[in-house]
Order: sequence, then C-alpha cells, then structure tokens
Amino acid sequence: MKRRDFLKLLLCSSLAMKAEAREIINKGVLLKKEARYYQKNAGNSVGCRLCPRQCDIPAGSTGFCRARRNTGGTLYSLGYAAPCAIHVDPIEKKPFFNYLPQSRSFSIASAGCNLRCKFCQNWDISQASPAETMNYAMQPADLVMTALNKGCRSIAFTYTEPSTYFEYMLDTAKIARSKGLLNVYHSNGYIRQEPLRELCTVLDAANIDLKGFTPEYYRSMCEADLEPVLETLKTLKKSGVWLELTNLVIPGQNDDLVTIRRMADWIRQNLGAETPLHFSRFFPLYKLTHITPTPVSTLEKARETARKAGLKYVYIGNLPGHAGNNTYCPKCAKLVVKRSGFSVLEKHLAGSACAYCGYKLHGRWG
Ligand code: SF4
Repeated sequence: MKRRDFLKLLLCSSLAMKAEAREIINKGVLLKKEARYYQKNAGNSVGCRLCPRQCDIPAGSTGFCRARRNTGGTLYSLGYAAPCAIHVDPIEKKPFFNYLPQSRSFSIASAGCNLRCKFCQNWDISQASPAETMNYAMQPADLVMTALNKGCRSIAFTYTEPSTYFEYMLDTAKIARSKGLLNVYHSNGYIRQEPLRELCTVLDAANIDLKGFTPEYYRSMCEADLEPVLETLKTLKKSGVWLELTNLVIPGQNDDLVTIRRMADWIRQNLGAETPLHFSRFFPLYKLTHITPTPVSTLEKARETARKAGLKYVYIGNLPGHAGNNTYCPKCAKLVVKRSGFSVLEKHLAGSACAYCGYKLHGRWG
C-alpha cells in the first residue's frame, strides 16, 4: 500500500471514506489463490466441492459462503492471505480446556461462513465477503513468523468458518508445523470428507460447534444439515486430532434435556467419554435479540445430564467464575484446574496427571 493510501486509511471517518479505504487495503490481496476442491463445468461454471453445499457457481458469482468466487471459469479463494482478524488469545478462549492450558494462541480469520446461524456471535465478519471487510495482507510465512515472535504455542483458525479459507489455513498450518507450532481449529464442522482428511494431516486439535442434536434445529437455525457435522467429528477422532465440542444452549430452542442426553450418549459412544463438552451460555444478539440469556440453572442441568451420561469433562462457558469453568479429576473428583472464564487461577497437576491421585488426564497439558 502506498504511503498516501495508508494515510487516507488512517484519516477516514465517514462511511464513504471507510468503504474507499476498504478497497485500498484489499487491493492486490484478493483473487490471487486458486481454490482447491472444485470442478470446472460447461460454460465457465464451476462446482465447489469443499463443503456439503457443493455450490454450482456461474462465472462472475460467489458461493454461498461469500468467500469463493468464480472468475472466468476458475474458482478463487478470496480470503487467502487477507485475514480480517488477528489476535493473540488465551487458548481457553477457543475454547480448549484440556489442551495446552494458559498458552497463547495466534488467532486469525478471513471473512466468510457456509452456515447462516441466527445466533452468530461474529456475524459482522462471518456473514461478509473478504471483499467487504478491512483486511491485513499477510502471507502464511509472515503469519507464522509473527506468531513465533509473539510467543505463541499454536495458531488458531477461528472466529469465522475456517474451511471457507481452506487454502490459507492449509498453507499456514504446514509452515507452522515445520517451525514447531501447533495448529488448532474452531469450526462448525461443515466440510466434506476429502478436504477434511487432508486438513487432518496438519491439524493438532479441533473444537467443533455441535449446535444442536436434531436435523430440524440445524435446518431452522443454521440452514444446514446435522449429519455431515457428525461425520466430521468421527473423522477427526479417527485421525487422532484432539477434539473438544461446544454446544451453545439457547432457551426454548435446544435446551431439551432428553435431546441433550441423546447428544451426550452419542458423543460417548462415537467419540469417547474423554471428549470435553462445553455448554456455552447464550446472550441475545444478531437475529435472536428477542430471546433472553440462558438461565444458569439450565446450563447446570445440561452439565449434570451430560455427566450422568458418562462424559468425563463437561464445562460451562460464557459464565465466568462458575464451578463449571473448572476441570475436576474424573477419578478422585478433586479440582485440578481452577478457572474464571479464560483465566487459569490454580493448577494441581503432576505433569499431565492429577496431583492428588495420579490419574492421567486426557488431552495435552504442557
Ligand atoms: S465452501 Fe462455499 S462455495 Fe464451496 S460449497 Fe461451501 S458454501 Fe459453496
């Protein structure tokens, strides 16, 4: 970017000026990377095969996720090397509670998402195209170097839906791994099996949003199907990627305890009792401003239900200071990691074992 343009960007205050600045900062960083996982069809149309939507995209159009555009019969990933968000976060914010506690994770996102969740917390960047957001220009190698300089243990692909910037994530993760960084991913799990298996070759840990446990809920709240998400979970587990799950509990929508019990049973049977499950508190926003925050008692009942189903690590999130933020030893039930929100306050570990009874805790603790 020229110095003159950069100054313009700093000075812009009106909406019109901001729109202009957006173009300036995006200029030259979009439309550079050909997408993977697509096929060319007749008449310059393409079929994207990255996620279960399998969009047919005519020339000049963008897919459902707004992040992949057909230009002249070639599909491009718009978010490549153009992250709209970069932060150094505690890994607990992803959330990962059984993975590298108290470590820093270099967290990035490019704009776009292949779901339409009415409760999205990051809708301003997930429900946008990389052509509409203010982006940094950062090649994978620059990103990895910055993460190392910031003292991070991992790179997190997060905030929006990382599979919509698949190529950027993959290239970054390969370099990150070669430099000793770990790769973690917070995703909706809506990805086809072939690209997922390729991603698993460089992924260390994943937190997948299991938003509900009925096809109807996925269709009405997210415009998506449940089944591909369950397939993703099984593939991640089989691939040896450390897996945690997040379930946002919305009053009157997905808080039925019978369904929560079915979900917990499925997790235990298919992914293992050691899979951490985070019940997250809902707050009214985006398209669900008419629904009140999740009562604490609802979250506690959900947690109790999942624990009764046999899950060993069940957490409550978005409720700092609650006992459900903590990790308890599955064998002796003593508190081994005390947290408040994303902060770790106490640790009672001997390596990766409970300091009281020696039980080897699941996950990665150092
Ligand atoms: S990744 Fe985007 S363009 Fe590709 S199939 Fe999914 S929604 Fe469509």
